[in-house]
Amino acid sequence: MRIFDPHIHMTSRTTDDYEAMYAAGVRALVEPAFWLGQPRTSPESFFDYFDALLGWEPFRAAQYGIAHHCTIALNPKEANDPRCLPVLDALPRYLVKDHVVAVGEIGYDAMTPAEDTALAAQLELAAEHGLPALVHTPHRDKLTGLRRTLDVVAESKLPTERVLIDHLNETTVKEARESGSWLGFSVYPDTKMDEHRMVALLREYGPERVLVNSAADWGKSDPLKTRKVGEAMLAAGFGEDEVHRVLWENPVAFYGLSGRLDLEVPGTEALHEGNSLLRGGE
Ligand SMILES: [Zn+2]
Repeated sequence: MRIFDPHIHMTSRTTDDYEAMYAAGVRALVEPAFWLGQPRTSPESFFDYFDALLGWEPFRAAQYGIAHHCTIALNPKEANDPRCLPVLDALPRYLVKDHVVAVGEIGYDAMTPAEDTALAAQLELAAEHGLPALVHTPHRDKLTGLRRTLDVVAESKLPTERVLIDHLNETTVKEARESGSWLGFSVYPDTKMDEHRMVALLREYGPERVLVNSAADWGKSDPLKTRKVGEAMLAAGFGEDEVHRVLWENPVAFYGLSGRLDLEVPGTEALHEGNSLLRGGE
């Protein structure tokens, strides 16, 4: 089983996770820029984080045989903090970089006017840079959040066919699918989707434009959930070609819209900007 995790926050994961992911079949991933739990207080904290997503984290992933790409954006939650807004003006200098395969995660958290502004501005940036967009939907009041998201996308210059709407579930999948967007499902240990609900949705709607991710971060999450969905699909009678479509071909097709996806794992040089992963001497 060859797996592409289209949404996982490796910054908060350990090398054990990288090892286990490789053993489970993960060969490529996309790490979306997001909130770090501890609120940032200045744009500079974002820039260091973006640089890590473009430099250090791909270096770390390569040591474990995994191709790493990222998406860059001002996340919905911090779009509400005026101290963070200058990040929007600096985004163009990141969006031209080779390993940036989408603008994201953007979207709504609490559905405030500040989030409206940041979402619309970043959809325009995606259109201007020829990039697709990864759009997070809120965890509360999901259907209202989805409808408002789809309205803003429809008003933007970015075609809906270049948007991945993420964190969908049974209440939002139908309307998202009708919009023509790509459909993202985050599969978690306790909350939101689990692998069996995911299989039921695949039975009902089929694998077209469907992407499954672990969204693993510093909260309770499981970076092997993609694999578990693949196994649950096989156990439910789906063919290997359908599993491959959901876990590999669809993420490749969506992020391939950027024209920048490079699935070759870079050579593992011993150092990144003079720093090694080794501890206690080489
Ligand atoms: Zn995320």
